[in-house]
Amino acid sequence: MTTSQKKSRKVIPIFSDTSQDNFVSLYEAQKKIYPRSTSGYFTNWRWIMIWITQIVFYGVPWLQWGERQALLLDITTHRFYIFGLILYPQDLIYLAVILIISALSLFLFTAVAGRLWCGFSCPQSVYTEIFLWVERKIEGDRAARIRLDNAKIGVKKVFKKWLKHAVWISFSMWTGFTFLGYFTPIRDLTQGIMHFSLGPWETFWICFYGLATYGNAGFLREQVCKYMCPYARFQSAMFDKDTLIVTYDEERGEPRSGRSRNVNAKEKGLGDCIDCSFCVQVCPVGIDIRNGLQYECISCGLCVDACDSVMDKMGYARGLIRFSTQNGISQHWSKHEIVQKIMRPRVLIYSAMLLLLCVGFAASLSLRSSFTVDVIRDRGVMSRLVPGGKVDNV
Ligand code: SF4
Ligand code: SF4
Repeated sequence: MTTSQKKSRKVIPIFSDTSQDNFVSLYEAQKKIYPRSTSGYFTNWRWIMIWITQIVFYGVPWLQWGERQALLLDITTHRFYIFGLILYPQDLIYLAVILIISALSLFLFTAVAGRLWCGFSCPQSVYTEIFLWVERKIEGDRAARIRLDNAKIGVKKVFKKWLKHAVWISFSMWTGFTFLGYFTPIRDLTQGIMHFSLGPWETFWICFYGLATYGNAGFLREQVCKYMCPYARFQSAMFDKDTLIVTYDEERGEPRSGRSRNVNAKEKGLGDCIDCSFCVQVCPVGIDIRNGLQYECISCGLCVDACDSVMDKMGYARGLIRFSTQNGISQHWSKHEIVQKIMRPRVLIYSAMLLLLCVGFAASLSLRSSFTVDVIRDRGVMSRLVPGGKVDNV
């Protein structure tokens, strides 16, 4: 055991005998993960999704629809403005239908392609990746960050840490401000900040959402996915052997062993894995995908890119780690056969239900009248003539 491991380990006595031999650790301190940067197909897709989601998130509150904000969930006046549509409290049913559609979509996409949402679009993954990018720019890549954390306190270390947290906090506050801009007109909020006239609640919510972003993306990171997110817990119930997952081709990779590029692996009876641990170092949740499918895996595909780059350097075929299905790997299916299996009964049922709900929702919205009045005559009162020659009929 290394010195740092000994230091971070907390030991809880469970026997009255207090000799060190009889101590059993019931708690292991979380080890900090230093994800290494990588590049490739899935890394590029992750950044494309980050750009799209962030442009939408930070841009939409600034759009105007006539004289008002295009998308404003105005809780104080009980009106939701969604571009040309205005929803009132009695339209709550639409919110329920949107939630059902979202849940069904999640079931469908998970059955087809696993946790793509987690790896590419979930705010927790997206903000963690942005914060990691800032960290890399200021402190360097994995090895430099580990060195910096182990270094003694000095001017350089304090400056880098201060700068990183300053950027993180500024970005988090901007996020909190934008988030509140979906509930309070964002132009009023901007004026309030510029004239130091924000109300106490607005200040509280900006700080609350800002600090939540700072804490979740800066510190908790993968722990949110592992321990706090309910989706990680029940997603396995939606998986089957034809769901796309990130998999390590054990048959091809084992027995793993380090070697130089010139060694003939076939002659030596070696698999294609050179045990470089690059796939582990890039993983944002700190797992080794070679140990098989794990609930912590968010299907980000970074280990696929990392391993492909190693395979390229070794002159081996790509795809030792790849998106595939359990059946695809075990039965050596081609890509075409894997895709064919996507259209299985559960996927068709989810798709049909989703389609029906979406069509019903769209029809209901288009036929909805924004104001309905029933005029009923008061039967107990007769009509009568009133001044001006008019008839009053209650
Ligand atoms: S990156 Fe590829 S070769 Fe390297 S350890 Fe991982 S699976 Fe093996
Ligand atoms: S194992 Fe691979 S796909 Fe899964 S979270 Fe780690 S890097 Fe992403």
